[in-house]
Amino acid sequence: MSEKVAIIGSGFAGLAAACYLAKDGFEVTLYEKNDTVGGRARRLVKDGFTFDIGPSWYWMPDIFERFFADFNKKPADYYHLDKLSPAYAVVFEDETITIGDNLAAIKATFEQKEKGSASKLQEVVDKAGENYDIAIRNLVYRPGESPLELVTTQTVQKLGAFIGNVSKDVRKKFSDPKLVSILEFPVLFLGATPGNTPSFYNFMNYADFGLGTWHPKGGMYEVIVAMEKLANELGVVIKTNAPVSKILVDTSDRVSGIIVNGEKHLYSTVLCGADYHHSESLLEPQHRQYKESYWEKKTFAPSSLIFYVGFDKKLKNIEHHNLFFDTDFEKHAHEIYEDPQWPEEPLFYANFTSVTDPTTAPEGKENGFFLIPLAPGLEDTPELRATYFDKIMKRFEARTDQNVKDSIIFKESFCVNDFKEAYNSYKGNAYGMANTLLQTAFLRPNLRSRKVKSLFFTGQLTVPGPGVPPSLISGKLAAELIKKHSAQ
Ligand SMILES: Cc1cc2nc3c(=O)[nH]c(=O)nc-3n(C[C@H](O)[C@H](O)[C@H](O)COP(=O)(O)OP(=O)(O)OC[C@H]3O[C@@H](n4cnc5c(N)ncnc54)[C@H](O)[C@@H]3O)c2cc1C
Repeated sequence: MSEKVAIIGSGFAGLAAACYLAKDGFEVTLYEKNDTVGGRARRLVKDGFTFDIGPSWYWMPDIFERFFADFNKKPADYYHLDKLSPAYAVVFEDETITIGDNLAAIKATFEQKEKGSASKLQEVVDKAGENYDIAIRNLVYRPGESPLELVTTQTVQKLGAFIGNVSKDVRKKFSDPKLVSILEFPVLFLGATPGNTPSFYNFMNYADFGLGTWHPKGGMYEVIVAMEKLANELGVVIKTNAPVSKILVDTSDRVSGIIVNGEKHLYSTVLCGADYHHSESLLEPQHRQYKESYWEKKTFAPSSLIFYVGFDKKLKNIEHHNLFFDTDFEKHAHEIYEDPQWPEEPLFYANFTSVTDPTTAPEGKENGFFLIPLAPGLEDTPELRATYFDKIMKRFEARTDQNVKDSIIFKESFCVNDFKEAYNSYKGNAYGMANTLLQTAFLRPNLRSRKVKSLFFTGQLTVPGPGVPPSLISGKLAAELIKKHSAQ
């Protein structure tokens, strides 16, 4: 008889793990508290507009290909991908710089801003490409069980890259502050400031300029739809509206089941794909590995205030992805990490997928997604949300030279309280735990419980870290560990 596994949570990591385990012959049931799968990557559909509630940047297409290839499939079997051109726009106070869809074009943009910067950019991207090869094709597929996993002939030669930081490296080579911001931007996806992110992570510059920015037609949620379909094809049973309220452990410290909607279900293996802090709270205190003080000390990635806005006209002077870097980044970063508070003049990000993908808004209209990164755990009230909407709309109108407020059909918002309620997120974090030097690989929360036998964890708080591609990898790693330990 095949071994039964319960998975808690249907984000990218839970879904990925479910697919791998089902393929390996396990009998998998996935329990999701919400009414649809997808976790932070769910979708909002309203009045003919479609929005991704969370992720919108499809980077590292090779990792998605690797995922589907493990099942003898390819992304194209499930969704249509377009490379965005331009990749994105960066809006500064006095100008907007658009990033092209190939390195030659990006180098030309750099050279215009700073003489000699094109060749320096080539050097940066070459080095970032080397690190990408080491990290993504190799290191990130290790389960973080031991520091020795990081010791390879290649990484030994790269020791300096774990000591230096991205901010210092960029500033050593480039002096134009706009180019510095553009080169520092990709590591923000890892959840910490560039000054607190090891140099090695500059492989994100290769992901950005080397591999490009892609868009699945219909939005990121199409990837979730694809994975749900694959999971169904492999025989995974998916139960939505199924919040797990307890993980049961027997007297020999082995997991024995879960409680869902008041009912007991017996399992010899449980994998938690919900936020780690919450998952451990489903255990009795003596079975938890990490105390509150552990989580308190960790650098969490930001939370966010997000608005989903339907506009009743096409907007001008926008691209699919737009970064509003027209205020002081250092100050905003300080208000997120050093001295948590609502930011005075925040940077923000806006996307309008309807600029390139007409399926996401009615004809002649635009879907706007606006995101302000915030410190996790901040007070969240309707008044604060309204103040910040006005703040960014004013700036958006000024920078893009148009009136948009009168064209709003509806707006919905999502912030700290929603992250907590919708996903049981610790302090309402959006992207999990940051990838700082002390929160990398084996220094991140374990994939396998050290206290409860046959209890495993996956997702953006574990290895390798935040983001959709890392969550896919995390699901694979957790599934491999389960397979290894069930064979013992
Ligand atoms: C606003 C936002 C923008 C982002 N932008 C990008 C981007 O552009 N590109 C990118 O690559 N990444 C981006 N990310 C990060 C990316 O979305 C995440 O890293 C990834 O989706 C995390 O997946 P996960 O499976 O670890 O967790 P989750 O998606 O959070 O999945 C956990 C699941 O567990 C469920 N759950 C919780 N408690 C229980 C319970 N008790 N019982 C049952 N189920 C439970 C939750 O409902 C949820 O479905 C973004 C994230 C956010 C929030």
